[in-house]
Amino acid sequence: MARILLLGGTSEASQMAQALAEAGAEATYSYAGRTERPMAQPLPTRVGGFGGADGMAEWIREHRISHVIDATHPFAARISRNAIAACAATGAELMALERAPWVAGAGDRWFHVPDIGSAVAALPDFPARVFLAIGRQNVAPFAARSQHFYLLRLVDDPLEPLPLPKAEAVIARGPFTVEGDIALLKKHRIDWVVAKNAGGSGARAKLDAARALGLPVVMIDRPALPPRPVMRCVAEVMDWLAHSTRLGV
Ligand code: NAP
Repeated sequence: MARILLLGGTSEASQMAQALAEAGAEATYSYAGRTERPMAQPLPTRVGGFGGADGMAEWIREHRISHVIDATHPFAARISRNAIAACAATGAELMALERAPWVAGAGDRWFHVPDIGSAVAALPDFPARVFLAIGRQNVAPFAARSQHFYLLRLVDDPLEPLPLPKAEAVIARGPFTVEGDIALLKKHRIDWVVAKNAGGSGARAKLDAARALGLPVVMIDRPALPPRPVMRCVAEVMDWLAHSTRLGV
């Protein structure tokens, strides 16, 4: 029987955990431990870093893991690189479960940038009201453009003051609706949106809201990763597991 390590922290990982639990698979869900109240999972759960690629390889060997499913966020590049290296070192099979990136459609005003630093530089010089829909970890570089007001949407109440002079945080956990996000952008008189190209439906609402209001979006493209196998949906990954372990899961 396959012994699976599921690297999580996303809604896809929760769906994957559900499918694995229903199939009676021997799997462990791994959280980084970033949020105060991680969602309960129907699988045994471990929390916290492994200690780099070597630490993950050690954990894989110790727990006799045969398959690693990387369902982490597309911007969580370090853990994904570690998973590639740890699987190569141990011989565990790797599969990434990753949502397709968003693609601009008619009416979208997206400015693509490769990273956070370029997103900071892409904002206008005149004072603007900016919705920073990028999570808490990456907001500090925006302090360099202190003329702007920043609206943040965070999962947890920040325990420390925000690292930006003019900023406000709304505490909310997705999925969000287009109507709700239009109301949010109007209420805070937002005129620029900064987003990471996460993909998926739950976080898409802000982009549809920006389009509806004619707002420009600074879209941060995904970090590049070494080549790895990728699937887009849970059913595909379940098929892959069934085929790669003769006994199925
Ligand atoms: P990251 O930069 O790729 O990872 C930093 C370190 O955190 C990794 O080296 C690893 O520590 C640990 N780590 C990350 N994910 C882990 C997991 N699932 N299980 C155990 N350890 C993990 O990741 P990040 O951007 O900080 O994201 C952290 C978590 O939040 C991820 O699980 C991701 O799925 C989730 N998330 C991230 C974003 C985002 O925009 N980045 C958005 C939504 C959710 P060691 O090297 O010590 O093993």
